[in-house]
Amino acid sequence: MSYLNNQFDIIIVGAGHAGCEAALACAKLGTKVLLCTLNVDNIALQPCNPAVGGPAKSTLVREIDALGGVMGEVTDATYLQLKILNSSKGPAVRALRAQSDKAEYTRYMRNLIESNENIYLKQCCITELKVENDKIVGAVDEFGIEYKANAVVLTTGTSLEGRIFVGLRSYSAGRLGEKAAIGLSDSLNKLGIQTKKLKTGTPARVDKRTIDYSKMTIQPGDEELSFFSFKPDRPIRKTYPCYLTRTTEETHAIIKANLDKSPMYQGLIHGVGPRYCPSIEDKIVRFASNPSHHIFIEPEGLGTYETYIQGFSTSLPADVQVKMIRSLPGLEKAHIVKPAYAVEYDYVPAVQTTHALMSKKIKGLFFGGQINGTSGYEEAAAQGLIAGINAFNYVNGSEMLELSRSSSYTGTLIDDLVTKDIQDPYRMLTSRSEYRLLLRQDNADERLTPIGHKIGLIDDMQYERFNEKQRLIKEEKERLETVKITADEATNEILAKYNEHIDRGMRASELLKRPNITYKVLKELDDSTQNRNLSKEVFEQVEVIVKYDGYIKRQEEQVQQAGKLEKFKIPENIDYSQIEHISSETKEKLAKIQPKTLAQAARIGGVKPADISILMVMLDKNTIARK
Ligand SMILES: Cc1cc2nc3c(=O)[nH]c(=O)nc-3n(C[C@H](O)[C@H](O)[C@H](O)COP(=O)(O)OP(=O)(O)OC[C@H]3O[C@@H](n4cnc5c(N)ncnc54)[C@H](O)[C@@H]3O)c2cc1C
Repeated sequence: MSYLNNQFDIIIVGAGHAGCEAALACAKLGTKVLLCTLNVDNIALQPCNPAVGGPAKSTLVREIDALGGVMGEVTDATYLQLKILNSSKGPAVRALRAQSDKAEYTRYMRNLIESNENIYLKQCCITELKVENDKIVGAVDEFGIEYKANAVVLTTGTSLEGRIFVGLRSYSAGRLGEKAAIGLSDSLNKLGIQTKKLKTGTPARVDKRTIDYSKMTIQPGDEELSFFSFKPDRPIRKTYPCYLTRTTEETHAIIKANLDKSPMYQGLIHGVGPRYCPSIEDKIVRFASNPSHHIFIEPEGLGTYETYIQGFSTSLPADVQVKMIRSLPGLEKAHIVKPAYAVEYDYVPAVQTTHALMSKKIKGLFFGGQINGTSGYEEAAAQGLIAGINAFNYVNGSEMLELSRSSSYTGTLIDDLVTKDIQDPYRMLTSRSEYRLLLRQDNADERLTPIGHKIGLIDDMQYERFNEKQRLIKEEKERLETVKITADEATNEILAKYNEHIDRGMRASELLKRPNITYKVLKELDDSTQNRNLSKEVFEQVEVIVKYDGYIKRQEEQVQQAGKLEKFKIPENIDYSQIEHISSETKEKLAKIQPKTLAQAARIGGVKPADISILMVMLDKNTIARK
C-alpha cells in the first residue's frame, strides 16, 4: 500500500453502511480509495435496531448481494437469529429478517475493509469539498489536510450538523458517543447544494440481567435457516430468541403527563421524523384509541448485556424514560445502560442528484445513504453500492449504472428519491413498487447478477454457480409440466392431509398452483420429484414461478405498459375523495395538483405506485368517480 501527495482515485466520506459498500465496490474494481470516517471503531455501526432485513428491506439486501455487495455476507456471518416473516403470505411480501450481533457485525466489516489493499482507512472529519470548473477535485479535513481525488462519495448518515435531544436538553452529536460533522453542510451550501433537516430516534438499551423474561412471550427464530447471501457455505451459528411485551395503561399515562417535556412537542426539533418508525409518544398521541402497543425485547450481542427495546423510541427526558420502561411487564427493575434519544441532522434532498446518484451541479460528487433522505441500513447500503459503482464509472469514463424501477427495489428507491421531493425519512416498503411480484427476495440474483458480473463485482465462479442454478430452475419447471399426478386413492389420501382432493389426473405444475400444495407435497406424491434432490433455493423459486405464473406474466406486461403512462389522460372532473383503497394523503395531493396524465400523478411526491395501479385500473374500466 502506498500513495503520494494525498492523491487517491476516489474519496468516500463515511464508513457506515453506505460508505462501506461504496468503498469495497470501488476497491474491488481496482481503484485506490480513501475511506474517511469520524471513528474507525464504529465502522458499519448499527446505531438503532441491531437487525437487518424485514419486508422489502430483505429484498434490498439480496439485491446488494446479487450485484456483488457485502451486506448479505456480513449479516449471514454475524446473526443471532434468522426468521422468515410473512411465511404464510404471498412471495412478494415474504421477507427474511436477521437479529445481528452488533459488535461482530462491525468487526467483520472492518476486517473486510482493512484486508483490502486498495482501501486507505482514516479517522478524520471532512469539512470542505474542493471543486474546480464544476468538477470535484478533492476534500479537506478538520486539520486542513487536503486529499485529492477525481470523485467523492458522501455517505454521512446522521452526522451533518447533528444535534442529539434527550428531553429538553440537546447537544452537538451525530449519534450517541460520536461527534457531529461540522462544516461540510456549509461547504455544500456554498457550492449551491441545498441541505434540509430530518430527525430520527432510537430507544433506550437495558441491562439484560435486570429483565424478567418470564413475564414476556418468547419469539424464537426459524429452525430451518434461510440466508441473505447467494454465496454458498454460510456459517451455521447458535441462535437466540427475542421476547415480546407490551405497553400498559401506566405507560400511556406517564407519556401523556410528560408530553410538555418532549422536544418534538415543544417545537425544538424542526426536522420531520420517520413516518413508519414513530416514537412511542407519537404512537400514543396518534393512535389514542389503541390501549396497548407491542414492544420487542431483542439481544444486541453475545459479548454484551445491552438489550434493545424495539418500538419504544422516544425523546422524552432520561428520568421519565426510567418510569416509562419500568411500566412495561418484565422491565419493572430495568437498569438503563444507554438512554433513548432523537437526533436532528442535515440531509441533501436527492432531487439535486441524477439517477446515478451524482450531483447535477458538481461532476464527480456522489451521494449515498441517509444523506439522501432515507432511513435504514439496507436502504443506505443499496445506495452506497450504486454510488460507489458510479464513482468508479465516472473516474473511468464508463457508462453510469442506472437501475430501472422494474429491475429492482434499489432502482425503485433511487427513482423515488430523485424524482419525488421526499419530506420525511424514506423507508423501503413493498407498496412503493408497482412490480412487487417481480421484485422478490428469491429472484434478486436472476434480476441483477448478470449486471454484477458485467461490472466486475461478481467473479466467474459465482457467475457459473448462478447460471447452473438458473438452468436447474428452468429444467425443473419444464419437468413438472410433464409429470402426471393420478387421481387415485393413494394420491387423495396424501392430499387430504392438506385439505385438497383431485377427481382427475393432472400435471404436477397444475396441481402446484393450488394454494395448499407446495413443492414438498409434490415430493410426497411423486417419486421422480422425491428423487430430484434440489436445493431449497431452487425448489422454492420453482414453486413461486409455477404458482404465480399468471400474476407474474401480468406484471411483466405492466412493465411494457409503463412507458405508456404519459399517454394515459386523467379527466379534469375526478372526485378523488370517492376513490377507495388509496390513502387520504394521496387523495389530498391528487385533488390539489390535479394531474393531467397518470405519469404526472405518479411523479407527485407521496403518491405510491400501488395508488397509480388502482387509478389505472379505474381509468381503464371507466369506473372512476366524477364530480
Ligand atoms: C438515533 C438513530 C436512530 C435511528 N433509527 C432508525 C430506525 O428507526 N429505523 C431505521 O431503519 N434506521 C434508523 N436509523 C438509521 C440508520 O442508522 C441509518 O439509516 C443508517 O445507518 C444509514 O447508513 P449511512 O451509511 O447512510 O450512515 P451511517 O451509518 O450513519 O454512517 C455515516 C458515517 O459517516 C461518518 N461521517 C459523517 N460525516 C463525516 C465527515 N464529515 N467526515 C468523515 N466521516 C463522516 C460517520 O462517522 C459514520 O461512520 C437510526 C439512526 C440513528 C443514529
